[in-house]
Amino acid sequence: NTTVYNFGGGAVNDDPRAKDKTITGGKGSNLTEMAEIGLPVPPGFTITTEECVKYLAGGSDFSEALRSDVAAALQHIETAVGKSLGDNDDPLLVSVRSGARVSMPGMMDTVLNLGLNDATVQGLAKVSGDERFAWDSYRRFIQMYSDVVLEVDHGLFEEALEIAKEDKGFYNDTEMEAEDWQALVSEYKAIVEQELGKPFPQDVSHQLWGAIAAVFDSWDSDRAKVYRRLNDIPAGWGTAVNVQAMVFGNMGDTSATGVAFTRDPATGEKAYYGEWLVNAQGEDVVAGIRTPQYLTKAAREKAGAKPLSMEEAMPAAYAELAEVFELLEKHYRDMQDIEFTVQDGKLWMLQTRSGKRTAKAALKMAVDMAGEGLIDEKEAILRVDPMALDQLLHPTLDPKAHRDILTTGLPASPGAASGTIVLDADKAEQMSNAGEKVILCRVETSPEDIHGMHAAQGILTARGGMTSHAAVVARGMGRPCVSGASAVSIDMTSRRLRIGNRELKEGDTLTLDGATGQVMAGTVATIEPEMAGDFGTLMEWADKYRRMRVRTNAETPNDCRMARQFGAEGIGLCRTEHMFFDAGRISAVREMILAESEQGRRDALAKLLPEQRSDFREIFEVMVGLPCTIRLLDPPLHEFLPHGDAEFAELAKVTGHDVDHLKRRAGELHEFNPMLGHRGCRLGITYPEIYEMQARAIFEAACDVAKASGEAPVPEVMVPLVATKRELEILRALIDRTAKEVFAEQGTEIDYLVGTMIELPRAALMADKIAEEARFFSFGTNDLTQTTLGVSRDDSARFLAPYTDQGIFERDPFVSLDIEGVGQLVELAAERGRATRPDIKLGICGEHGGDPASIEFCDKVGLDYVSASPYRVPIARLAAAQSSL
Ligand code: PEP
Ligand code: MG
Repeated sequence: NTTVYNFGGGAVNDDPRAKDKTITGGKGSNLTEMAEIGLPVPPGFTITTEECVKYLAGGSDFSEALRSDVAAALQHIETAVGKSLGDNDDPLLVSVRSGARVSMPGMMDTVLNLGLNDATVQGLAKVSGDERFAWDSYRRFIQMYSDVVLEVDHGLFEEALEIAKEDKGFYNDTEMEAEDWQALVSEYKAIVEQELGKPFPQDVSHQLWGAIAAVFDSWDSDRAKVYRRLNDIPAGWGTAVNVQAMVFGNMGDTSATGVAFTRDPATGEKAYYGEWLVNAQGEDVVAGIRTPQYLTKAAREKAGAKPLSMEEAMPAAYAELAEVFELLEKHYRDMQDIEFTVQDGKLWMLQTRSGKRTAKAALKMAVDMAGEGLIDEKEAILRVDPMALDQLLHPTLDPKAHRDILTTGLPASPGAASGTIVLDADKAEQMSNAGEKVILCRVETSPEDIHGMHAAQGILTARGGMTSHAAVVARGMGRPCVSGASAVSIDMTSRRLRIGNRELKEGDTLTLDGATGQVMAGTVATIEPEMAGDFGTLMEWADKYRRMRVRTNAETPNDCRMARQFGAEGIGLCRTEHMFFDAGRISAVREMILAESEQGRRDALAKLLPEQRSDFREIFEVMVGLPCTIRLLDPPLHEFLPHGDAEFAELAKVTGHDVDHLKRRAGELHEFNPMLGHRGCRLGITYPEIYEMQARAIFEAACDVAKASGEAPVPEVMVPLVATKRELEILRALIDRTAKEVFAEQGTEIDYLVGTMIELPRAALMADKIAEEARFFSFGTNDLTQTTLGVSRDDSARFLAPYTDQGIFERDPFVSLDIEGVGQLVELAAERGRATRPDIKLGICGEHGGDPASIEFCDKVGLDYVSASPYRVPIARLAAAQSSL
């Protein structure tokens, strides 16, 4: 295999490797492709990524093959341009740029104007007829080469330039004359000699190999390593090196340079978008030394800017550029991000690649391009990152607004919220009722905070992971939430809040970004979500191609309504304990939990029955015609026991017991490990009257709705935290018996299913036996992750970060399913369940049901549906469709 591929200048590439990004990198393969479709690309060559990998592994040595291939390739450029590198009369200048498989903006090195030295600069001045241009190019080269290759502090050069301008009383670089640049070149060379103890290299071949080595080495620079880690780019890829004849945008007023997108990367609008500068070299546009100008007349007029657009100032070159835009979009069938240069009126293309874009733009472009026939529906579906939809469904922070970031916690529930800091739920509710926007800040949240969470614009907690109470509830309600922000400490006595070294008090304003976990001081401007036509169109297409159904995790009629708007096809998990979080009800639940006799419990349950029945009735009404999985009570006790004196006093009032008695009883119920304690079906086994009441409420409500509407809901009654077949057998008998009683009383019958959650490893292993009693399984992957990994879901945030940093887990296993571990249990349980009962319904209702990678896995193992919190329903629909394609 050759080590180098030529492009442009009439080069012909039969070898498919030339256009293979893994070999010639993104930039190299696209330059080759552009040249092939007839676009004006300055001639050049690409050194393969393989050579980079060899060089880095082999002690920074170039192979003989590479040396001779580069020599031949250099001749290709020289012949095409008609100039030679190092020719004192008419020198060829080249650029040397990195180009990895994927773009790593700004991460690796570039050298421009290579080939200049004390002799060739004179030749350049003569042939160009422009002394100033020649000396300006030389000083740019020394500065860049010294920085990138020789590693001389670039600050020294900038300082020298500043002093030179000051001495002359100049403000702009453009005021510098030829002799000013020439003088600066001498100074630059002196700086190099002083720093390195040897002169700036005059040998052009030495310059070239130095630059190639620097680009190779930059693959292993610290910043490139960090970028790779953040973007999951393997270290073994290496970078290609592109050596290309220079074209000059800085040869006077008929020359220019610019960057452009074929569509607006922020909005997706089908309008060219870009910036350009007359008489400038590429880095001037990005460096912000001069303010770049608008590309099109329309954009300039819209912004009310004065300096002429390229369309107006260079109509011929602009017309050619516009043609290139069209050609490139047709060829790549995607929005392109382009670099170009105009040298003396002639357009040259220096780069093209698929442009980065906002979620909104991605959506619009996908739908538009399908409409234009550029791509088909399937391709459009694949073009949008499901997680990016999150940005579209919640108000988001204005990307242009300033952020005073205090700390970053876990991005527990997306969306942006600003409001007044409030430290308790009651106050949050009062202030919200008075029309104020509040942010509820708590160490952690518990069920009695629910009204405050609902009243708040957003929730901040110091403790708790992505599946903590606050996170789950906030996502369900669509409230932005940052959880586990461990830099936050709250002092309830002084009602102050310390974040890092900043102190805030109740009443100050705070902004949360639930999508990034950022916590900011003050108010940051937001932009409203747009559920416009494109969104609906893409969702419609997604629905056409997906196999899996998408349900929602919801327990209030409001959430159900919202989820239906988002396209939910049923309820996959109604956590009934959440229905008791309402202020008025929690006392009855506590009364029930703290009761010492069956009668005591039955008295409390009698108060809860009518409430449950009307809850279920409302939900069945909203979800008419759709399946509804109602999970029987699964309260980790620590979430429900009263805490402070006030709560005990309140409970004493309700129950008639004295506070001491209640405290003693709560003490008896205290558990060391509540997540592994008296919860789930264990509660139903020990206190059957609880599940009996719930089953009764479900069936009575279903009969009511059936009678009233003529359409009977199909409740799926789900038993949580089952480990053995026998547990389910006992509880199923209880549910069936209750159903029979209710149907007899009501004089009507409805269909229903009894099934179980699979959320303990033993349940997964025993799935064949359990399936004898279960008509459906729903994988509770929150608990299944917790119990399989032996990692507490409420505490993991405190210690899991180093695990993902060090790659022990690729992602937080409570966010994205640990497919190779926990996934095995899901797959095995699905197989064993089906072996016993081929038509068993299979779904997932852990938080993973809203995570695209986990959804793809669920599709592959043949689950019938995923269930996600309402705002994640569209994400799940799109992810399920992508998985089917
Ligand atoms: C689960 O464990 O995955 C589940 C859905 O139940 P919960 O989160 O309510 O424990
Ligand atoms: Mg669970």
